Amino acid sequence: MSLNPPDLSTPPETTTHETVVTDTPLQVWFDGSVMRQDVAHIPLTTHALHYGSGVFEGIRCYPTADGGAAVFRLAEHLERMRLGARALGADFNLARVHDACLQVVRANRHRDSYIRPLMWFGTGALALDLAPLTQHLMVASLPWTPHLGEHRQRLTVSPWRRNRAAALPPLKLCGNYVNSLLAKREAGTRGFDEALFVDDDGFVVECSAENVLMVKDGRVTAVEHADALPGITRATLIELTAAESRPVPLDELLDADEVFVCGTSAEVASVASIDDRAFNATPFTRELQALYTRIVHGQEPRYLSWLTHV
Ligand code: PMP
Repeated sequence: MSLNPPDLSTPPETTTHETVVTDTPLQVWFDGSVMRQDVAHIPLTTHALHYGSGVFEGIRCYPTADGGAAVFRLAEHLERMRLGARALGADFNLARVHDACLQVVRANRHRDSYIRPLMWFGTGALALDLAPLTQHLMVASLPWTPHLGEHRQRLTVSPWRRNRAAALPPLKLCGNYVNSLLAKREAGTRGFDEALFVDDDGFVVECSAENVLMVKDGRVTAVEHADALPGITRATLIELTAAESRPVPLDELLDADEVFVCGTSAEVASVASIDDRAFNATPFTRELQALYTRIVHGQEPRYLSWLTHV
């Protein structure tokens, strides 16, 4: 099996996961100004706090070999955020959010970090009509390492169903995430790392914050489902591996040679097991992880267009 199309002969370089630690308090961008996080306040009657009326993104910034840093697929993240804002009827100035993301990373002098833009509805009423409410935008950047950690993931099929796309569009609307929180929490109480959503017909949807891919007989398949978030990492991996994107029943996933999950924060994470089905060696996943690491750190010349230098 081979990844398509990059040259994999280069040995993977070690990721430094270096974080610039300073005594300076964390800076955030809030409604047009960069300020200390601890002085930025919002009212308790903030609409989004009560009803989840907001949209966010999760974006990664990585150190590059030249001593700088670069944001991975910023344009794609902001386009998805724009779709979420449009679904809520919120104003969204993409160029402004783009600049805010870069400004806050620079202000914090972060390199290996997670960027969190959030647009939300504020005050003016507590009824459900969004039109009279104030709208706000903040961007935070936080020092970061992959949220699933380095170990192989132990998944469990969740008793929860994923939000149906017909009820909540698969976008990063704040309220959508209660569904993920419930599933993640339930999986944790049974000792698993992560929850795998399956639909009523037995098709795999996604995990609480990752999309799912599998390898069988050397062929890579990306699980496709209308209720799953259209992941940017998933799209990246499809491009890298020429994976087929199609619906996958749980039985087929359990029969795969390798399973891995992916997301901006999780990156490419190998799956050790799904309930009592264990997956052994994951050579393809390891190779793909190494390639992804090189790409996000700007070490693969043909993918430099995916990086925005800070
Ligand atoms: N599904 C869900 C529910 C998510 O929250 C995420 C993380 N954004 C993903 C999939 C992966 O998406 P992406 O690769 O764009 O981060």
